[in-house]
Formats: sequence, C-alpha cells, structure tokens
Amino acid sequence: MLVETALNIPTDKTFTYVVPDHLLAEVKPGKRVLVPFGKSTSISCVLNFLTDSSLHNIKHIISVLDQHPLFGENDLLFYRWLAKYYMHPLGKVIFEALPKEKATKIKRWLLPGITFEQINHADLSREEHLLINLIAENTDGILQHQAQKVMPVKTLSEAIKNLQRRKIIRCEYRMDADSQLSGQYERWVKVTNLHDPDKSLTTKQHILFNEILSERAIPLSVLKQKVHCTPSILKALHEKGYIWFEERRKQRQPFTVSLPQESNASKFPPLNQEQAEAVQKIVEAFSSSRFSVMLLHGVTGSGKTEVYMAAAKKVIESGGDVLFLAPEISLSVQLAKRVNARFLDMDIALLHSEIPPALRYEQWMAIQREEIKIVVGTRSAVFAPMKNLKLIIVDEEHDESYKQDERLRYHGRDAAIMKGKFSGATVVLGSATPSLQTFFHTQSSRYTYLALPYRVENRSLPEVTIVSMEKGKSNDSISVLSAPLISAMSASLAGGYQILLFLNQRGFHTFFYCSDCRHTISCPNCTVSLTYHKKTEMLRCHYCDHHEKTPLMCPVCGKERIIRYGTGTERLEAEVRRYFPDAIIGRMDRDTVTGKNREKILLALEKREIDILVGTQMITKGHDFPYINLVGIISADLSLNIPDFRAAERTFQLLTQVSGRSGRGDMPGQVIIQTVNPHYYVLQRARDQDYHSFYQSEIKLRQTLIYPPFSRIVSLRLSASHKIRAEKAIETLKQDIGMIRKKTIYKTIEIIGPSHSPIEKLCGQYRWQILLKGKDISHLHSLAQDIILANKSKALKIVPDVDPIRFM
Ligand code: ADP
Ligand code: ZN
Repeated sequence: MLVETALNIPTDKTFTYVVPDHLLAEVKPGKRVLVPFGKSTSISCVLNFLTDSSLHNIKHIISVLDQHPLFGENDLLFYRWLAKYYMHPLGKVIFEALPKEKATKIKRWLLPGITFEQINHADLSREEHLLINLIAENTDGILQHQAQKVMPVKTLSEAIKNLQRRKIIRCEYRMDADSQLSGQYERWVKVTNLHDPDKSLTTKQHILFNEILSERAIPLSVLKQKVHCTPSILKALHEKGYIWFEERRKQRQPFTVSLPQESNASKFPPLNQEQAEAVQKIVEAFSSSRFSVMLLHGVTGSGKTEVYMAAAKKVIESGGDVLFLAPEISLSVQLAKRVNARFLDMDIALLHSEIPPALRYEQWMAIQREEIKIVVGTRSAVFAPMKNLKLIIVDEEHDESYKQDERLRYHGRDAAIMKGKFSGATVVLGSATPSLQTFFHTQSSRYTYLALPYRVENRSLPEVTIVSMEKGKSNDSISVLSAPLISAMSASLAGGYQILLFLNQRGFHTFFYCSDCRHTISCPNCTVSLTYHKKTEMLRCHYCDHHEKTPLMCPVCGKERIIRYGTGTERLEAEVRRYFPDAIIGRMDRDTVTGKNREKILLALEKREIDILVGTQMITKGHDFPYINLVGIISADLSLNIPDFRAAERTFQLLTQVSGRSGRGDMPGQVIIQTVNPHYYVLQRARDQDYHSFYQSEIKLRQTLIYPPFSRIVSLRLSASHKIRAEKAIETLKQDIGMIRKKTIYKTIEIIGPSHSPIEKLCGQYRWQILLKGKDISHLHSLAQDIILANKSKALKIVPDVDPIRFM
C-alpha cells in the first residue's frame, strides 16, 4: 500500500511512501509519520492512500507518530485550497495549521513484542533479561534512553537487535512527549527490580530508597514533600541501579482555558426587533445546511454580539458546531468570555498564538474527537478540525489584522468563507464598517444583508465635530490639542466621565532633522526616520530593533542644529498631563503594553481608575466602556497619507470605530476629529457616520481605477540583501517579464513594476514589488508563478502575496 504525504518543506511536490504491513492498521490520513528523506529522516503528514502500484523504489514509512489523525477529509480539502489560492506549498500550509510543538523531537520506544509471553528465559543474556524486565513493568513501553541508564549503549543496542529479531520486543518512534505536551507529563521515580544488593547504600540513600520502595512508584513532586530528597542522593541511587525515572502522563487536566465570567453575565437582554429578525435569517440559512454568507452590518453598540449568541445557541441546540473568529487576541479573549457566560455547561476551546503549545494541542485533539463544539479564536482558529461546523462568525470582518503577512499569507475572513463552503456552513461577517468588498457582495446579492441600524435602547450615536488644524510641523511650541478639544475634555472630566485620545503614532517626537543641512536621522537598516522616545532617551526604529542615543549634533554636517518635531503618544501624554495635572492618565501603545498588561489597563479603565486613556490603534477596537463620553482623534491625516488604494477606506473605518467608543452608556457621546483636511470627503462621511454615502463615493473610485473588488491583485514581493546584484537580477527579470506577458491569457493583466517598495529598505533587506492586477485569479496565479520561476538569481527572493493588504 502506498500513501501520498506532505513534508514541511518549500516545494509543491508531495511524497509517496510504502506503508509496511505492520503499520497498515495505524497509518491514516491526517497522521504524522516518520519517513526517510534524503540522508536522514523527516516528519511527513499522510494525505491519502494511493492505488497506483506501478511506482518502484519507494521508501518505507519508518513509524507512525500520532495515535489519532489530526484532521479530517474536509480539512484536507480546505488546506489544499489554501495552498493553491495563496500559492504556498501544501506541506507548509498543513504544518502551519497544525498545533505546533516547541521542538519536534522524536524518540525511540521499546515495547513488548508478539512472543513476549512465551519467552524462554534460558536463552537470554543477562542484559537481555534486564531489558525485558524493564519493559515488562511498563505496558506503554519505555524510552530507549531510559534503558541506557541501566546498561551501556553498545550492550543495549545489541540486546535490542537480538530481541527484535526474535519478535520478543518491538521498537516504535513517537513524538517526544515533553515537546508535545509539556505540562501534561510529570516525572515519576520507580524502584527497579534489579537493584544489586552488593552495592552498599549510605544511610540517607537507604531512607530515601525505602520510601520509594514502599510505593514502588511515586511522582517526584510527591516524594519531595514526604522526605528529604536532594538531587545528589537521587542521582546516587539512580547510578547504583536502584531507581529510575519515568515521564508519566498527569491526570487529565481540563483542556479549556480558564475564563473568568463576565461581570454582568447573568442578564441577557431580550432581543429587539432588528436583532430578532437577523437571528431568524441566520437560523433559516444554517437550517438548510447549505453554504451561505451573510453580512451583519450593525452600527457600533447595536448589539451584534447578542445576535451571534442567539444564533449560536440555535446551532448548538440542533447539534452543530460554531466557530467564532476575532481579529486580535484580546478581542478573542473578550468574545470567549461572553460565549462562556452564555454556554456555561459547555467546553469552549480558545485558540490563539499566546495559548501555550501543549494546551493548544490538547484543545485541538478534543475538537478532533468532537468533544468541543464551540471554538473561539484569532485567524488561525480557522484551521481547527471541526467536524460538524454549521456556523462561522467573523467578528469585525473589516479588520486588517485578519491578514497574515508572513509565511502563509492568508486572510482569516476569506479563509473562513472557504471553510464554510467546504463544510456547508453559514458564515456571518459582522462589522459596523464592513470592508468595501464585503458590502459590494451584498449589493450583487452574493451575500445576504442583515442590518442593525440603531444602537440598542435607542441610545444615540455620538456627535462628531471636525476641528481644522493649522498645516505645518508641530514643534514643541504648538499644542497638539486644539482649543475645542481642551474645553470638551474639561467638561467631560468635570462631569465625571472618561476620555479616549487616539493617535496612531507612538514615541515622543517622530522626526529629528538638521536645520542646517536638512539631514533627517533615519534607521541604518530601514528607510524610515527614527522616533525619539523620551523615557529611554533613545531614537528607535519602529520596524526593526535598531535604537541609538539621541545625537547632540548632526551626524552629517556636525552642527548642533538638530530640530525635533512630530508627535507621538508619549508626547501627547505629556501634554495632556500639562493641561490636566489632576487627571489620572493612562497610555496604551506598543511601548507600554506587553501581553497581559493590556488587560490590566483595560480593567483600570473599566473600573474608572483612569480618566484619560491615550493610545494608538490598540484602543480603537471592540471595547464597551459606558463612562467614556468623549473621544479625541488627534490627527485624522496620518492614515490618509499612506500610498495605498485602501487609505480612504481604512481611515473611514478607523474614525468610525474610534468614534464608536464614545457614548456607549446612557449618556450621548461626543467625538472631536482634528485634521488639516477638514473638507475631505472621507472625514465628512465619518462625521455623519454615513457608511452608505461613503460606500457610494468610494466604490465609484474603485470602479474607475479598476481596483478590487473590480479586479484582483497579486503582489510579488522582491527582496535582497545585496543591492547591486539584486538590481542586475531585476534587469534580467524585466526582460523575462516582457516575454512572459505575451501569452494571450495574460493580455488583460496589468503589470506594475518592478519598482521600489514605499519602504525601500527594511531590516537590512532591499525591497521591490511587482503588482499584477486583473480579473481572473487563475491567470494571475499562473503569471505570478511564471515570473517567480523566471527568476534564476539567488540574489533575489520573490514571494507572492495574493490579495495583499499592505503595500509598504
Ligand atoms: P456590538 O457588538 O454591536 O458593538 P454588543 O453586542 O456588544 O454590540 O452590545 C452592546 C451592549 O448592548 C452590550 O452591553 C449588550 O449587552 C447590550 N445589548 C445588546 N442587545 C441588547 C438589547 N436588545 N437590549 C438591551 N441591551 C442590549
Ligand atoms: Zn529599522
């Protein structure tokens, strides 16, 4: 029997192996196997059995590494689609999807063989005897290196060979338990049957040994509590052959992550009419078990999450599984809490990159065994092997964090839609500011449109004011807070409310330049200017690790005429402190937030221990704080000045989302947007919170310029560490592209570039890009492939990015 397998290597090829007879019962699609590869061995994933037996000289699978398959047939179809669509090797896709081990170590285990019971002891050497005794004590087998502790390696391998030949024992390779499930295993101490009474023990050793002997086997942690037991005494006993160690699986831990319950979990509001209608439509859709996509377009605070919950409840009652996706870890945790509060009697898996690998693996296997019916997570949760998926919720579907920008460059939302297709599930995309593409599909009725046009309980949307700022550089003498914003802040604080100030730029000053020679101090590894961080007195690059002391004089002309300008959140915080010395000010950006810290800041905000929170993008999303009644947007222009056809869309979403943080409680909220372009249509539409007119203007522009959704883009990212060699390679490539594009299927494809990326150098790598724009994705795929294959230069690396989001 042959199987097709995928290795975790960058190739589109799959690899065929023979399944030896003794492994026939064990080999299954979805399991990992150990295979010979090149001169060594490698882990491969079984895809399917092959019927073609005409192949010769095929190597044999050495061993099966998983007890149970890690995914099912539908999942494999999905992984294959991802590989093809995102132009990424199938093996790489699969190993990206599977829960990761810290390091994959494979170890050799020794187990009883088929003639184990009928051993003729007289035939055995002393070592073979020892080995059999060891194995007999452990029905699960023992690790080879455990046996090494009682006899020399050479003797051991002789013994293994002999016993294996006589089928008294057999060998098996397994994933290292430590790396797969650290935390799930613990160390035990056991007495051996083999202790040699000739070797004398010291008193201490004797006491310890007797203690162990009374139990025969005991967890090391328990032993340590019972008696005095130092590593050196243990070591001595071990070396004398009295005891040995074993890793045993702990009593099964609950595999779900501990989720504190929402404080107000007990009261679930009855749905209002719009919510009830939306739930009704979703229920109708999944009841038909046919794939469909729906957009739940609900303004901020309209109660979308309640709709998800009600729909999920129906699915669960009907025996189906539900997958919830959120764009960021903290949002996924928040969502998981709400889901948990709603489904108290059910196990919920929470999957994101900060969940420890062992726990992720446990959850994954529980999902695969169909013990878990609700999964919440970030984009990678889309790989979870759910068997009976009926409903997928993609919350904040417009959020660009769904796109992964390394390795497999997939979009979590789009992948979720395809997963829904393969599972016959209903996919609900939720947002207050749907992506243009999603909304476009509701216009052509490809997606069903569900609307929640009002905030719950008739709460009003915030009142938005645009404040015109003076053009020019903000240096220290010019305030970054406008007079209207300052007075609104005073009023808000006086009323006991909280304030959010949003600025999408961290650090203190964002530019250092010489007023004499105009030299701007920038990163040596990246073509971006360095940002001054006051707290650390350092200039930092926000793209790589580079940081340096702030210079007193210009490194080029030597004059002491350095001017600093531009504002980051650090400076904003300082300025707010100056105006409002009595207020408690918090800051949330990548400089102040690390992992759990973020939850702490949000909790402080919830408990009203912070009056004013200053922050970047991080503060804009999802959170529901009833006492925030003012949101200040310090500069709406930053995100507009990015060379990207989505800049307007992104800015509209950002402004609307930040604004939505205001007035979530009983009090109407207020928003102040500061800008140097007060008449720009994006800002006007954001002020009016008028998604539909924004959509109308923006979609016309896209149509005129034939940008997505009227076309598709594949971007080729070129990078090189050696500039001159790369430039040569690019010259050659240009000529090749000239030839390639003559194929008729490529006629209508627009090829832009190769040209320098907006950030020409990043982390020491020189960068260029080629954009391929066209209507037919399969033609774009093949053109991209042709160009990548045409590049023969080792100096130039080309990576495809299908449906790219970032063009920097
Ligand atoms: P969204 O996800 O649209 O921003 P949420 O679902 O988080 O909105 O709801 C916002 C707040 O309104 C939550 O505190 C929620 O409990 C409450 N809520 C939702 N639906 C209703 C309703 N029908 N009646 C009263 N309150 C509601
Ligand atoms: Zn840098």
